[in-house]
Amino acid sequence: MENKMEKLKEEFERIKKEIASIGFVKKGSITKCYQACRNPNCRCNKDPKFRHGPYFLLTSKEKAKTKTFSVPEGLLSEVRRYVENYKILKSRIKLLEEISEKIIKIKIKKYRKELGKSK
Ligand SMILES: [Zn+2]
Repeated sequence: MENKMEKLKEEFERIKKEIASIGFVKKGSITKCYQACRNPNCRCNKDPKFRHGPYFLLTSKEKAKTKTFSVPEGLLSEVRRYVENYKILKSRIKLLEEISEKIIKIKIKKYRKELGKSK
């Protein structure tokens, strides 16, 4: 049981270090789209193949609100990394929580065992 506990603690510390090395994080997803403009005389309004773009939209949901903004193509790979970092961070937090749950269970077992001894 102690050995298992040590292993879990090590794993927890390892993930914490990994989290510390994660760069900027952004929730959301990036979609590529083409748009028609507001000029009624522009050819984009007559034929979809002349629609402007591509635009890269970063969309995220915060409670019921959806936030969207356009990301310039030159910054796309960087912003994509932030979006990826967010997913990694979330998955690592989940791992920390799972390890903590295992630790709680071991502690409960140990606690009950100790309690049984003193009787
Ligand atoms: Zn247009």
